[in-house]
Amino acid sequence: MTTAEITVVGAGLTGSLLACYLARRGHQVSLYERRPDPRVGDGERGRSINLALSERGLDALRRIGLEHRVMADALPMRGRMIHPVAGPQDFQSYSRDGDKSINSISRGALNNALIDAAEAADGVTLHFGHRLTGLDPATGSLRFETPDGTVRASASVVLGADGAGSATRAQLVAAGVIREDVEFLDHGYKELIISAADGEFALSPDALHIWPRGNSMMIALPNPDRSFTCTLFWPNEGESGFASLDGPAAVKQYFGVHYPDLPPLSPGLVDDYLRNPVGRLGTVHCDTWHVPGGRTALIGDAAHAIVPFYGQGANCAFEDVVELDRCLTETADNWETALPLYEKRRKDNADAIGRMALENFTEMRDKVASPIFKATRKTEHALQRALPGLWLSRYELVSFSTAPYAKVERRAKRQWRFLAGGLAVAGGMAAISLRRIASWNAARLSPGGVRT
Ligand code: FAD
Repeated sequence: MTTAEITVVGAGLTGSLLACYLARRGHQVSLYERRPDPRVGDGERGRSINLALSERGLDALRRIGLEHRVMADALPMRGRMIHPVAGPQDFQSYSRDGDKSINSISRGALNNALIDAAEAADGVTLHFGHRLTGLDPATGSLRFETPDGTVRASASVVLGADGAGSATRAQLVAAGVIREDVEFLDHGYKELIISAADGEFALSPDALHIWPRGNSMMIALPNPDRSFTCTLFWPNEGESGFASLDGPAAVKQYFGVHYPDLPPLSPGLVDDYLRNPVGRLGTVHCDTWHVPGGRTALIGDAAHAIVPFYGQGANCAFEDVVELDRCLTETADNWETALPLYEKRRKDNADAIGRMALENFTEMRDKVASPIFKATRKTEHALQRALPGLWLSRYELVSFSTAPYAKVERRAKRQWRFLAGGLAVAGGMAAISLRRIASWNAARLSPGGVRT
């Protein structure tokens, strides 16, 4: 039996970043991970996952001097490149002037960089091959299964950062101290690869590529080796679902009809499709993230996994870490008061990005190719140019600011309600009073200059 001050369960993105932040505060941290060290050996087939890392995630990395190290493995994406079934590709910039980017990075590369940082931090001990199987939230005693048998440990504070299927959360649910509700989508995901063509990118590397197909879609993000990781988001069942393509001929035929530009770019398409697993997608809701007493809490996906359609799961998890660190500072590291404060400040925000991520699925798979959507985006960019700093699109506020998600959600709704009201009254776009919008927004200008 070993006793540590703080135990973090899960050395994924959240757990390894959290260990770095806690070590910086002078805590002794034991970081337990069920997998072997991911820096050694190959990753799981078809589960590489490319992330879009944006301002919230970068802010968390910047605060502990990791931004440049991580960004060395990242590629900027300035907008969406839409691939219709027929006709030319269409580029849609993410920001008004096309100068802002989200960043494509492999989850594995990011995780390895964070584990390196945790390992280098004073006070962090890493334990790979340790799967949490038991937790008593009242005493902080823990049980892990390892290749060499059962290991027991105890800690003053246990933080569950073990992802969407969190074993820590399951232990707390079983102990009756929290309630969870996991809302699975009818869609799953599967990865494919577009290889480099003669050593070059086969598609434009500075965009997130989208093949919107109504009820389903594919996206592709660039990699530093000039390949692209593609992810299909398809229904699990039904006519255009994963289950409907059961052999090489069916796969070839389907992609030839619905994604005709893909087969020439992806020689391994049929094999990858048939061999790669289908992953599940869902939103995790918990009634609370901590157990009163300051001994146990959940963080990152373990507390609030969301669907990936706003590219914010990891970004949101990194914000959790920053907020917990802030709460510890404000409470002089009193965990009993810091944990409820952290939950109070983060929960509404996690709920808001969970809702916005679900909404964005419809936008990405269905609306992005429509003329109305394109006209709306142009209108938004025009309003931003006409009212610099006063009108900001929801996408920009989510991806390029650290304004709290819940405020972003409210502000975006207000902006559109106002515009709709203006249109109704004036009977057309030309009659909208820009001055009225400006004064409405100016009245909500926060001292920091970011209106919420
Ligand atoms: P995880 O990354 O799941 O890490 C949990 C860790 O805990 C793992 O290492 C796991 O092995 C370990 N663990 C699990 N059980 C145990 C146990 N019993 N004992 C010990 N250890 C355990 N986010 C973005 O910000 N941008 C994106 O563009 C984006 N795209 C995505 C695309 C897809 C297809 C998916 C599925 C997700 C995407 N996400 C994205 C979300 C992002 O991957 C997650 O939000 C992020 O990985 C959460 O980090 P985490 O550390 O909380 O959980």
